[in-house]
Amino acid sequence: MGIIKPDIEFKRALSSLSGSQLNQCMQCGSCSAVCSLAPEDRPFPRKEMIWSGWGMKDRLVGNVDVFLCHQCGDCSSYCPRDVKPADVIAAIRQKTYEHYMRPKFLSKIVSKPALLPLALLIPVAVIILILSMAGTFKIPPGPVDYSAFFPHAWLNSTFSAITLLFYSLAFWGIVSFWKDMKRNTPAPAEMGGRLPVFKVLGEILSHSNFSGCGTQKVRKWAHMLVFFGFGLLVLVTLYAIWASITHNYPLPLTNPFKIAGNLASLMIYCGLGIMVFHRVVNKSVFGKSGYTDWLLLIAIGVLTLSGTLVEMARFGNWSLAYHLYFFHLVVVWFVIMYLPFTKLGHIFYRTTALLYARSIGRK
Ligand code: SF4
Ligand code: SF4
Repeated sequence: MGIIKPDIEFKRALSSLSGSQLNQCMQCGSCSAVCSLAPEDRPFPRKEMIWSGWGMKDRLVGNVDVFLCHQCGDCSSYCPRDVKPADVIAAIRQKTYEHYMRPKFLSKIVSKPALLPLALLIPVAVIILILSMAGTFKIPPGPVDYSAFFPHAWLNSTFSAITLLFYSLAFWGIVSFWKDMKRNTPAPAEMGGRLPVFKVLGEILSHSNFSGCGTQKVRKWAHMLVFFGFGLLVLVTLYAIWASITHNYPLPLTNPFKIAGNLASLMIYCGLGIMVFHRVVNKSVFGKSGYTDWLLLIAIGVLTLSGTLVEMARFGNWSLAYHLYFFHLVVVWFVIMYLPFTKLGHIFYRTTALLYARSIGRK
Protein backbone atom coordinates (compact mmCIF):
# COMPACT_ATOMS: atom_id res chain seq x y z
CA MET A 1 0.00 0.00 0.00
CA GLY A 2 1.37 3.47 -0.94
CA ILE A 3 2.09 6.03 1.75
CA ILE A 4 0.29 9.36 1.38
CA LYS A 5 2.63 12.33 1.75
CA PRO A 6 0.50 15.49 1.95
CA ASP A 7 2.13 18.80 1.05
CA ILE A 8 -0.18 21.52 2.33
CA GLU A 9 1.87 24.34 0.79
CA PHE A 10 1.54 22.68 -2.60
CA LYS A 11 -2.22 22.34 -2.14
CA ARG A 12 -2.46 26.03 -1.20
CA ALA A 13 -0.43 26.98 -4.28
CA LEU A 14 -2.73 24.95 -6.55
CA SER A 15 -5.79 26.49 -4.97
CA SER A 16 -4.41 30.00 -5.35
CA LEU A 17 -3.28 29.49 -8.98
CA SER A 18 -6.56 27.89 -10.07
CA GLY A 19 -8.98 29.80 -7.86
CA SER A 20 -10.51 26.43 -6.93
CA GLN A 21 -11.96 25.38 -3.57
CA LEU A 22 -10.35 21.95 -3.78
CA ASN A 23 -12.12 20.54 -0.73
CA GLN A 24 -15.48 21.06 -2.40
CA CYS A 25 -14.85 18.22 -4.88
CA MET A 26 -17.21 15.36 -4.02
CA GLN A 27 -15.54 12.87 -6.38
CA CYS A 28 -18.68 12.38 -8.47
CA GLY A 29 -16.56 11.67 -11.55
CA SER A 30 -18.60 13.85 -13.95
CA CYS A 31 -15.40 15.61 -15.04
CA SER A 32 -13.76 12.34 -16.16
CA ALA A 33 -17.00 11.19 -17.81
CA VAL A 34 -17.26 14.29 -20.04
CA CYS A 35 -13.55 14.54 -20.88
CA SER A 36 -13.09 13.39 -24.46
CA LEU A 37 -9.30 13.01 -24.05
CA ALA A 38 -9.27 10.94 -20.85
CA PRO A 39 -8.17 7.32 -21.39
CA GLU A 40 -10.60 4.57 -20.32
CA ASP A 41 -8.03 3.14 -17.94
CA ARG A 42 -7.53 5.44 -14.91
CA PRO A 43 -9.11 8.52 -16.55
CA PHE A 44 -8.37 12.10 -15.55
CA PRO A 45 -9.13 14.61 -14.02
CA ARG A 46 -11.13 13.03 -11.14
CA LYS A 47 -8.09 11.29 -9.63
CA GLU A 48 -5.99 14.46 -9.96
CA MET A 49 -8.72 16.34 -8.11
CA ILE A 50 -8.56 14.08 -5.06
CA TRP A 51 -4.73 14.13 -5.14
CA SER A 52 -4.83 17.93 -5.31
CA GLY A 53 -7.24 18.06 -2.38
CA TRP A 54 -4.84 15.91 -0.40
CA GLY A 55 -1.76 17.88 -1.49
CA MET A 56 -0.10 14.82 -3.04
CA LYS A 57 2.64 16.68 -4.88
CA ASP A 58 4.71 13.55 -5.60
CA ARG A 59 1.83 12.05 -7.63
CA LEU A 60 0.93 15.27 -9.41
CA VAL A 61 4.19 16.82 -10.67
CA GLY A 62 5.45 13.71 -12.48
CA ASN A 63 1.99 12.89 -13.82
CA VAL A 64 1.82 12.26 -17.55
CA ASP A 65 -1.98 12.68 -17.67
CA VAL A 66 -2.03 16.40 -16.90
CA PHE A 67 -0.26 16.91 -20.23
CA LEU A 68 -2.85 14.90 -22.15
CA CYS A 69 -5.40 17.55 -21.13
CA HIS A 70 -5.69 20.40 -23.66
CA GLN A 71 -7.76 22.61 -21.38
CA CYS A 72 -11.02 22.76 -23.30
CA GLY A 73 -12.88 23.47 -20.06
CA ASP A 74 -15.68 20.91 -20.59
CA CYS A 75 -15.00 19.31 -17.21
CA SER A 76 -15.35 22.67 -15.47
CA SER A 77 -18.61 23.36 -17.29
CA TYR A 78 -20.12 20.09 -16.04
CA CYS A 79 -18.70 20.12 -12.49
CA PRO A 80 -21.70 20.26 -10.12
CA ARG A 81 -19.56 21.82 -7.36
CA ASP A 82 -17.86 24.48 -9.52
CA VAL A 83 -14.41 23.25 -8.45
CA LYS A 84 -12.88 24.19 -11.86
CA PRO A 85 -10.98 20.96 -12.62
CA ALA A 86 -9.66 22.40 -15.93
CA ASP A 87 -7.99 25.27 -14.07
CA VAL A 88 -6.65 22.88 -11.42
CA ILE A 89 -5.02 20.74 -14.13
CA ALA A 90 -3.50 23.89 -15.68
CA ALA A 91 -2.18 24.87 -12.23
CA ILE A 92 -0.60 21.39 -11.83
CA ARG A 93 1.15 21.87 -15.19
CA GLN A 94 2.46 25.25 -14.05
CA LYS A 95 3.77 23.73 -10.79
CA THR A 96 5.33 20.91 -12.83
CA TYR A 97 7.38 23.40 -14.88
CA GLU A 98 8.50 25.17 -11.71
CA HIS A 99 9.42 21.86 -10.06
CA TYR A 100 11.65 20.55 -12.86
CA MET A 101 13.11 23.68 -14.40
CA ARG A 102 16.82 24.08 -13.74
CA PRO A 103 18.42 26.28 -12.59
CA LYS A 104 15.67 27.24 -10.13
CA PHE A 105 16.91 30.81 -10.07
CA LEU A 106 15.95 31.38 -13.73
CA SER A 107 12.59 29.69 -13.26
CA LYS A 108 11.86 31.97 -10.27
CA ILE A 109 12.72 35.27 -11.93
CA VAL A 110 10.34 34.60 -14.83
CA SER A 111 7.44 33.34 -12.71
CA LYS A 112 7.26 36.06 -10.02
CA PRO A 113 6.06 39.58 -10.97
CA ALA A 114 8.33 41.18 -8.34
CA LEU A 115 11.40 39.65 -10.05
CA LEU A 116 10.51 40.77 -13.59
CA PRO A 117 12.86 43.81 -13.44
CA LEU A 118 15.73 41.46 -12.57
CA ALA A 119 14.77 39.11 -15.44
CA LEU A 120 15.07 42.09 -17.82
CA LEU A 121 18.13 43.60 -16.18
CA ILE A 122 20.21 40.47 -16.81
CA PRO A 123 19.97 40.62 -20.64
CA VAL A 124 20.42 44.41 -20.59
CA ALA A 125 23.66 44.08 -18.59
CA VAL A 126 25.00 41.13 -20.63
CA ILE A 127 24.25 42.80 -23.99
CA ILE A 128 25.97 46.02 -22.84
CA LEU A 129 28.95 43.94 -21.73
CA ILE A 130 29.15 42.15 -25.12
CA LEU A 131 28.86 45.45 -27.05
CA SER A 132 31.55 46.99 -24.85
CA MET A 133 33.85 44.03 -25.50
CA ALA A 134 33.15 44.35 -29.25
CA GLY A 135 33.92 48.10 -28.96
CA THR A 136 30.63 49.09 -30.66
CA PHE A 137 28.52 50.38 -27.78
CA LYS A 138 27.69 53.69 -29.48
CA ILE A 139 25.34 54.88 -32.24
CA PRO A 140 27.16 54.38 -35.57
CA PRO A 141 27.11 57.30 -38.04
CA GLY A 142 25.45 57.05 -41.49
CA PRO A 143 22.43 55.01 -42.67
CA VAL A 144 21.03 52.42 -40.28
CA ASP A 145 23.24 49.32 -40.25
CA TYR A 146 22.59 47.06 -37.27
CA SER A 147 25.75 45.06 -37.88
CA ALA A 148 27.82 48.23 -37.25
CA PHE A 149 26.19 48.40 -33.79
CA PHE A 150 26.23 44.68 -32.97
CA PRO A 151 28.65 42.86 -35.33
CA HIS A 152 27.10 39.64 -36.64
CA ALA A 153 29.99 37.48 -35.48
CA TRP A 154 29.55 38.75 -31.91
CA LEU A 155 25.76 38.48 -32.02
CA ASN A 156 25.65 34.98 -33.51
CA SER A 157 28.37 33.50 -31.31
CA THR A 158 27.31 34.99 -27.95
CA PHE A 159 23.55 34.54 -28.33
CA SER A 160 23.97 30.97 -29.65
CA ALA A 161 26.35 30.05 -26.80
CA ILE A 162 24.04 31.45 -24.10
CA THR A 163 20.99 29.76 -25.65
CA LEU A 164 22.83 26.42 -25.79
CA LEU A 165 23.94 26.80 -22.18
CA PHE A 166 20.41 27.55 -20.91
CA TYR A 167 18.83 24.74 -22.96
CA SER A 168 21.46 22.22 -21.79
CA LEU A 169 20.75 23.13 -18.16
CA ALA A 170 17.01 22.80 -18.78
CA PHE A 171 17.52 19.36 -20.35
CA TRP A 172 18.31 17.86 -16.91
CA GLY A 173 14.91 18.97 -15.69
CA ILE A 174 13.30 17.10 -18.59
CA VAL A 175 15.31 13.97 -17.71
CA SER A 176 14.00 14.09 -14.10
CA PHE A 177 10.46 14.63 -15.41
CA TRP A 178 10.79 11.53 -17.61
CA LYS A 179 12.04 9.42 -14.68
CA ASP A 180 9.15 10.54 -12.46
CA MET A 181 6.58 9.79 -15.17
CA LYS A 182 8.05 6.29 -15.41
CA ARG A 183 7.79 5.86 -11.66
CA ASN A 184 4.23 7.25 -11.38
CA THR A 185 2.80 5.61 -14.50
CA PRO A 186 4.91 2.53 -15.30
CA ALA A 187 4.69 0.99 -18.76
CA PRO A 188 2.53 -2.17 -19.00
CA ALA A 189 4.63 -5.34 -19.31
CA GLU A 190 3.61 -5.88 -22.96
CA MET A 191 4.83 -2.45 -24.12
CA GLY A 192 8.24 -2.58 -25.76
CA GLY A 193 9.26 0.98 -24.88
CA ARG A 194 9.54 2.12 -28.52
CA LEU A 195 9.32 5.93 -28.83
CA PRO A 196 6.62 6.85 -31.41
CA VAL A 197 8.38 10.07 -32.46
CA PHE A 198 6.62 10.54 -35.81
CA LYS A 199 3.19 9.77 -34.38
CA VAL A 200 3.63 12.41 -31.67
CA LEU A 201 5.04 14.87 -34.19
CA GLY A 202 1.93 14.29 -36.33
CA GLU A 203 -0.34 14.89 -33.32
CA ILE A 204 1.44 18.13 -32.48
CA LEU A 205 1.57 19.50 -36.03
CA SER A 206 -2.06 18.61 -36.80
CA HIS A 207 -3.28 19.83 -33.39
CA SER A 208 -5.49 16.74 -33.39
CA ASN A 209 -5.84 16.76 -29.60
CA PHE A 210 -7.35 20.23 -29.75
CA SER A 211 -10.01 18.84 -32.13
CA GLY A 212 -10.74 15.95 -29.79
CA CYS A 213 -10.84 18.28 -26.83
CA GLY A 214 -14.27 19.73 -26.18
CA THR A 215 -16.33 22.42 -27.78
CA GLN A 216 -13.99 25.41 -27.90
CA LYS A 217 -12.64 25.06 -31.46
CA VAL A 218 -11.43 28.65 -31.49
CA ARG A 219 -8.55 27.63 -29.18
CA LYS A 220 -7.22 25.29 -31.85
CA TRP A 221 -7.08 27.99 -34.54
CA ALA A 222 -5.55 30.57 -32.23
CA HIS A 223 -2.90 28.11 -31.07
CA MET A 224 -2.17 26.99 -34.65
CA LEU A 225 -1.64 30.57 -35.82
CA VAL A 226 0.82 31.33 -32.99
CA PHE A 227 2.50 27.91 -33.16
CA PHE A 228 3.16 27.95 -36.92
CA GLY A 229 3.88 31.69 -36.94
CA PHE A 230 6.48 31.23 -34.20
CA GLY A 231 7.96 28.17 -35.91
CA LEU A 232 8.22 30.08 -39.20
CA LEU A 233 9.95 32.98 -37.41
CA VAL A 234 12.50 30.57 -35.91
CA LEU A 235 13.23 29.16 -39.41
CA VAL A 236 13.59 32.66 -40.86
CA THR A 237 15.94 33.62 -38.00
CA LEU A 238 18.10 30.56 -38.68
CA TYR A 239 18.25 31.55 -42.35
CA ALA A 240 19.14 35.14 -41.35
CA ILE A 241 22.04 33.81 -39.25
CA TRP A 242 23.24 31.80 -42.25
CA ALA A 243 22.86 34.84 -44.54
CA SER A 244 24.87 36.98 -42.12
CA ILE A 245 27.67 34.38 -42.03
CA THR A 246 27.76 34.28 -45.85
CA HIS A 247 27.62 38.12 -46.05
CA ASN A 248 24.18 38.19 -47.71
CA TYR A 249 22.51 40.19 -44.96
CA PRO A 250 20.39 42.34 -44.60
CA LEU A 251 17.72 40.79 -46.79
CA PRO A 252 15.71 42.92 -49.24
CA LEU A 253 11.94 43.16 -48.69
CA THR A 254 11.33 40.95 -51.73
CA ASN A 255 13.47 38.07 -50.41
CA PRO A 256 11.22 34.99 -49.90
CA PHE A 257 12.51 34.59 -46.32
CA LYS A 258 11.74 38.22 -45.59
CA ILE A 259 8.22 37.74 -46.96
CA ALA A 260 7.87 34.55 -44.86
CA GLY A 261 9.02 36.45 -41.76
CA ASN A 262 6.42 39.17 -42.28
CA LEU A 263 3.73 36.55 -42.93
CA ALA A 264 4.74 34.79 -39.69
CA SER A 265 4.38 38.07 -37.78
CA LEU A 266 0.90 38.52 -39.22
CA MET A 267 -0.07 34.98 -38.14
CA ILE A 268 1.18 35.66 -34.60
CA TYR A 269 -0.71 38.97 -34.38
CA CYS A 270 -3.94 37.22 -35.44
CA GLY A 271 -3.44 34.25 -33.07
CA LEU A 272 -2.53 36.46 -30.12
CA GLY A 273 -5.46 38.77 -30.88
CA ILE A 274 -7.90 35.83 -30.65
CA MET A 275 -6.26 34.57 -27.43
CA VAL A 276 -6.27 37.96 -25.72
CA PHE A 277 -9.86 38.68 -26.80
CA HIS A 278 -11.14 35.39 -25.38
CA ARG A 279 -9.07 35.58 -22.20
CA VAL A 280 -10.59 39.00 -21.50
CA VAL A 281 -14.12 38.68 -22.90
CA ASN A 282 -14.99 34.97 -23.05
CA LYS A 283 -13.14 33.44 -20.11
CA SER A 284 -14.79 30.03 -20.53
CA VAL A 285 -12.64 29.42 -23.64
CA PHE A 286 -9.23 29.67 -21.94
CA GLY A 287 -10.11 29.29 -18.25
CA LYS A 288 -8.42 31.34 -15.54
CA SER A 289 -5.47 33.42 -16.79
CA GLY A 290 -2.57 33.88 -14.39
CA TYR A 291 0.62 35.94 -14.45
CA THR A 292 2.61 33.39 -16.46
CA ASP A 293 -0.15 33.15 -19.12
CA TRP A 294 -0.22 36.91 -19.62
CA LEU A 295 3.55 37.24 -19.46
CA LEU A 296 3.91 34.71 -22.28
CA LEU A 297 1.31 36.38 -24.50
CA ILE A 298 2.74 39.85 -23.89
CA ALA A 299 6.34 38.70 -24.42
CA ILE A 300 5.54 37.03 -27.77
CA GLY A 301 3.48 40.07 -28.83
CA VAL A 302 6.25 42.53 -27.89
CA LEU A 303 8.87 40.33 -29.58
CA THR A 304 6.92 40.31 -32.85
CA LEU A 305 6.03 43.99 -32.70
CA SER A 306 9.58 45.10 -31.87
CA GLY A 307 10.87 42.92 -34.75
CA THR A 308 8.46 44.65 -37.15
CA LEU A 309 9.51 48.09 -35.85
CA VAL A 310 13.21 47.24 -36.15
CA GLU A 311 12.63 46.28 -39.79
CA MET A 312 10.68 49.49 -40.49
CA ALA A 313 13.35 51.55 -38.71
CA ARG A 314 16.05 50.13 -40.99
CA PHE A 315 14.15 50.84 -44.20
CA GLY A 316 13.05 54.28 -42.94
CA ASN A 317 16.42 55.24 -41.39
CA TRP A 318 14.71 56.18 -38.12
CA SER A 319 16.83 58.04 -35.57
CA LEU A 320 15.62 55.66 -32.83
CA ALA A 321 16.53 52.56 -34.87
CA TYR A 322 19.41 51.40 -32.62
CA HIS A 323 17.42 51.96 -29.41
CA LEU A 324 14.62 49.85 -30.87
CA TYR A 325 17.14 47.21 -31.93
CA PHE A 326 18.63 47.05 -28.43
CA PHE A 327 15.15 46.69 -26.94
CA HIS A 328 14.32 43.96 -29.48
CA LEU A 329 17.45 42.01 -28.50
CA VAL A 330 16.44 42.15 -24.83
CA VAL A 331 13.01 40.76 -25.76
CA VAL A 332 14.61 38.08 -27.98
CA TRP A 333 16.64 37.01 -24.94
CA PHE A 334 13.52 37.02 -22.76
CA VAL A 335 11.47 34.83 -25.11
CA ILE A 336 14.10 32.55 -26.70
CA MET A 337 16.80 32.12 -24.06
CA TYR A 338 14.39 32.02 -21.13
CA LEU A 339 12.06 29.73 -23.14
CA PRO A 340 12.69 26.53 -21.11
CA PHE A 341 11.98 28.46 -17.89
CA THR A 342 8.74 30.22 -18.90
CA LYS A 343 5.34 28.79 -19.79
CA LEU A 344 6.69 28.47 -23.33
CA GLY A 345 8.70 25.54 -21.89
CA HIS A 346 5.47 23.56 -22.39
CA ILE A 347 6.84 22.96 -25.91
CA PHE A 348 9.36 20.58 -24.30
CA TYR A 349 7.29 19.28 -21.39
CA ARG A 350 4.14 18.48 -23.36
CA THR A 351 6.13 16.87 -26.17
CA THR A 352 8.05 14.74 -23.64
CA ALA A 353 4.83 13.74 -21.86
CA LEU A 354 3.08 12.87 -25.15
CA LEU A 355 6.07 10.76 -26.18
CA TYR A 356 5.98 8.88 -22.89
CA ALA A 357 2.17 8.50 -22.91
CA ARG A 358 2.08 7.09 -26.44
CA SER A 359 5.11 4.85 -25.79
CA ILE A 360 3.19 3.13 -22.97
CA GLY A 361 -0.02 2.94 -25.00
CA ARG A 362 -1.81 5.69 -23.04
CA LYS A 363 -4.36 7.27 -25.42
S1 SF4 B 1 -14.09 18.09 -9.87
FE1 SF4 B 1 -16.32 18.35 -9.95
S2 SF4 B 1 -16.98 16.93 -11.52
FE2 SF4 B 1 -14.93 16.29 -10.94
S3 SF4 B 1 -15.19 14.77 -9.34
FE3 SF4 B 1 -14.97 16.74 -8.32
S4 SF4 B 1 -17.04 17.49 -8.03
FE4 SF4 B 1 -17.17 15.86 -9.56
S1 SF4 C 1 -10.06 20.61 -19.68
FE1 SF4 C 1 -10.92 19.31 -21.29
S2 SF4 C 1 -9.22 17.91 -21.78
FE2 SF4 C 1 -8.74 18.85 -19.82
S3 SF4 C 1 -9.50 17.44 -18.28
FE3 SF4 C 1 -11.10 18.95 -18.64
S4 SF4 C 1 -12.43 18.04 -20.21
FE4 SF4 C 1 -10.48 16.91 -20.21
